[in-house]
Amino acid sequence: MKRVLVTGGAGFIGSHLCRKLLEDGDEVICADNLFTGSKKNIEDLFDYSNFEFLRHDITKELYVEVDQIYNLACPASPVHYQYNPIKTVKTSVMGAMNMLGLAKRVHGRVLQASTSEVYGNPQVHPQPESYWGSVNPIGIRSCYDEGKRIAETLFFDYHRQQDVDIKVIRIFNTYGPNMDTEDGRVVSNFIVQALKGEDITIYGRGEQTRSFCYVDDLVEGMYRMMNSRDGFTGPVNLGNPGEFTMLELADKILELTGSKSKLVYRPLPQDDPMQRKPVIDLAEKELGWKPEIMLEEGLKRTIAYFERRLA
Ligand code: NAD
Ligand code: UDP
Repeated sequence: MKRVLVTGGAGFIGSHLCRKLLEDGDEVICADNLFTGSKKNIEDLFDYSNFEFLRHDITKELYVEVDQIYNLACPASPVHYQYNPIKTVKTSVMGAMNMLGLAKRVHGRVLQASTSEVYGNPQVHPQPESYWGSVNPIGIRSCYDEGKRIAETLFFDYHRQQDVDIKVIRIFNTYGPNMDTEDGRVVSNFIVQALKGEDITIYGRGEQTRSFCYVDDLVEGMYRMMNSRDGFTGPVNLGNPGEFTMLELADKILELTGSKSKLVYRPLPQDDPMQRKPVIDLAEKELGWKPEIMLEEGLKRTIAYFERRLA
């Protein structure tokens, strides 16, 4: 049995990861300040005697004895990470330092949930891990993008300088149950709007693309990366290479919900990337991983979740 710390464990992805680890029989400590996460996401996990919740902010030090650390704590939706951008930088940077320091002290392994945002508004398409990205350092997304970039830098410096056992994954847009109705990201926004019969808010002309990964696939990839061979640090892309425009996504959600909602157009937020699609050859080769749940099936499951939430 392993002792595993999941920071951000009460959030969307973290709650699914905690459940998988508990089902595997690991002892799980979930540390979260509940900024965007909620106790509702983890309420059924309290039935497991091997589950423990700590209300903790990762910008502060944490002393626990663990074998593995998944560092997920950080608001991920643009509206939430832009709400208090200085705090977002602190969470990414000080949080990474605290978790790396903890890993060093306990001689544990630490996995960083990095992001496709490190590629910024990419000039290379699709994006392999070798691409260094095109990121505005002073824009409204920079607190998140640059915060995650310096976190990656810290991970590799702790690895080179202090021999810390690191794993870095770059997550592409992930969706699924346990997203909050107010999360603000596109899949949850469109589904909630469609189910409520409200207008579907397309930012810009809706021609920008994203590649959407269902959360169960992502969690499996994350778990495989954590338990991958010694010496394989990543960074490794985890995402579903299926690429869709926001208009295509809206149409698909209208079709699957049977909603009569209308599309309305809103200004495109500053620095909103025009395209994004992962190259996942490295994940396939090193982890034997590729996504299995395609968009339509994943959307059906996510719509069913939001129908229950809104009932
Ligand atoms: P989320 O907002 O649902 O979860 C983040 C969790 O971190 C929340 O529970 C929140 O309360 C917690 N948190 C935030 N700041 C904290 C702090 N200072 N101390 C302790 N806890 C804190 O987002 P998510 O989609 O589950 O994302 C999880 C991780 O995956 C994030 O690091 C995010 O950057 C990364 N990621 C997600 C996606 C995606 O599409 N979902 C894509 C790329 C990267
Ligand atoms: N978007 C949209 N309508 C919404 C929310 C988002 O058109 O109600 C667009 C947004 O401009 C972006 C894409 O959907 O181009 C994905 O946005 P999200 O916030 O989900 O994640 P991002 O990949 O931008 O971090």
